Amino acid sequence: MIDAHLALYRPGRQDAVLTPDVGRDMIEAYRAATAALQAEFGSAGFMITFAVNWQPDHDAIGEPDSIADAGCAVHIFGRRAGEMISPVRAMTLQRSRRRPPAPDPKLGDRLRPLLADPPATVIVEPPPGELCDGCAGSVLTDQERWRGGGVRVIRPRRVLIDPHVLVLPVRHVASLRDLEPDEVTSLSARLVESLRQFRLGSGSTGLSGFANDGVAARQETPHVHLHVYGRSVGEPVNPYQRLAAYLPPGAQRPV
Ligand SMILES: [Zn+2]
Repeated sequence: MIDAHLALYRPGRQDAVLTPDVGRDMIEAYRAATAALQAEFGSAGFMITFAVNWQPDHDAIGEPDSIADAGCAVHIFGRRAGEMISPVRAMTLQRSRRRPPAPDPKLGDRLRPLLADPPATVIVEPPPGELCDGCAGSVLTDQERWRGGGVRVIRPRRVLIDPHVLVLPVRHVASLRDLEPDEVTSLSARLVESLRQFRLGSGSTGLSGFANDGVAARQETPHVHLHVYGRSVGEPVNPYQRLAAYLPPGAQRPV
């Protein structure tokens, strides 16, 4: 249902920590993909989704189709003013009820050169505000659960389900595009640790999550943060279903 949609993936274990080389590749690929989506579709912001040891079932709500054999997979959705439907809205439909966008046989031919040689100037406008919730001292005193490698894991102020954490770099960085490769590696290490904690605390077998990049993607805090939910086949609540329940008809919830 979303035309501006690309995915980054590589084979391998989903719960392996990304090496610095892979972290560098992932961030370079993200920069190229977002530049290509901006050039092709006018995307001004981006939503990413990701999962570790988690494959949604055939009728899942809130998650993109899985990619066969993908170990680490990150879906990237371009957001723009006037879009037909937001990815959050599109994915509140069960997967079996979603309709793909009309095929565009030339799309691949247009995207390939953009991905190979991405435009240098990409504007992703961060949320306004001088006071950053991600840098506030209260994050350390009230919310932080642990940290490592320049990345902290915190409890959100608005807990959607249990387990739910936010994972964010300690350094102030507004856009996913501006992450350093070692921060990508450290983010992945904290995700693997979060899954271990979720297993112990809630019996989760996997996790999934998302992040918003730029005001056009409804990013609220000008500091990169990943929303991370523990998942299991027998879970009482699908977090995306609960997220969707916050949405009045026709409106987008800022997430
Ligand atoms: Zn900050």
